Amino acid sequence: MSAHSLPAHLRLACPTCDSAYDEWRWRCACGAPLDFATAPSPNAATPDDADLDYRNGLWAFDEFLPTDPRATLGEGMTPLVDAPEWNASFKLEYVFPTGSFKDRGATTMLSLAAELGIDRVVEDSSGNAGAAVATYAARAGIEAEIYVPASVKPSKLKAIERAGAKPVRVEGTRQDVTDACVEAVETGDAWYASHAWNPAFFAGTATVAYEIAAQRDWNVPDAIVTPLGHGTLFLGAYRGFRALRDAGWIDRVPRLYGAQAAGYAPIADARHHTPDETNDVADGIQIENPVRVTEIHEALDETGGDAVALSADAVEDELDRLHRHGFYTEPTCAVAPAALRELRTMGEIDAEDDVVVPLTGSGLKS
Ligand SMILES: [Zn+2]
Repeated sequence: MSAHSLPAHLRLACPTCDSAYDEWRWRCACGAPLDFATAPSPNAATPDDADLDYRNGLWAFDEFLPTDPRATLGEGMTPLVDAPEWNASFKLEYVFPTGSFKDRGATTMLSLAAELGIDRVVEDSSGNAGAAVATYAARAGIEAEIYVPASVKPSKLKAIERAGAKPVRVEGTRQDVTDACVEAVETGDAWYASHAWNPAFFAGTATVAYEIAAQRDWNVPDAIVTPLGHGTLFLGAYRGFRALRDAGWIDRVPRLYGAQAAGYAPIADARHHTPDETNDVADGIQIENPVRVTEIHEALDETGGDAVALSADAVEDELDRLHRHGFYTEPTCAVAPAALRELRTMGEIDAEDDVVVPLTGSGLKS
């Protein structure tokens, strides 16, 4: 894209070194991820359900969003249902156009790309984010190139290809995929539509918090347990609940818990002894270097939450249990309810705690 000044509401700032930018860039000169310098917030001091048009899905919360719906498929307002076998509520995040919560970030990020006049984007992904970006790019008429591991699940690859995006398969680890994509960004002219780096993606994933609060008549749960790789949903929840609290719409932020896969658990490893194995069942969160690691630890510390690492056996058992109770999800998704079980055993979550667990991805793609 040609460099031109961003409108005031889209200017970028670095929380690490305080640099400010009035032209788009994918990361700060210091190497840290960027955020919008100002976050939109509502005028009203209390939520008014009459003003929130839930027929617009997650765009009902446009007062909190940095852009307008230019790439939308009616996504959001996913069901929140009782899960008595888990003594929790499940938010069915696999009920999205591409079968995962990644559509939350894809709709806002590609809407922003359209607003900025971007004509080509690149992204790296283990599958779900790639399918979401490819699909919303197609909706916006934007070209997309998606870097994926050579071992990507065929069904996820197909979702990318059928949307007209170009997959680039990279041999090696998940980090090798990111490195190849970043090199393409640095040496080419495509816009980095990254679910780990792009602040518009996190503005979108924050809508999970707005929906949970609205669906519970603005009473927040005690705890939320999400899968934790780069933390796109985890940090979205953190940012969203904080935005609601700052707006005066809720009185507190729930405790946030992150569920990682053993062997790919840098956050849990920093806080606990974790299982000495490599869990390759949860293929969607094999992230060894989360981009926003500082903010993840801050979210755990500020909310009184924690992160745990799950073994492959624990995830497979939980996946079977989910399927047997009618939740047709993918393996990565099962780390969160498996973590809830573990956190109850550890005494971190009590039987009386009111808990919401997002189920993040559909079994139809796995
Ligand atoms: Zn910086």
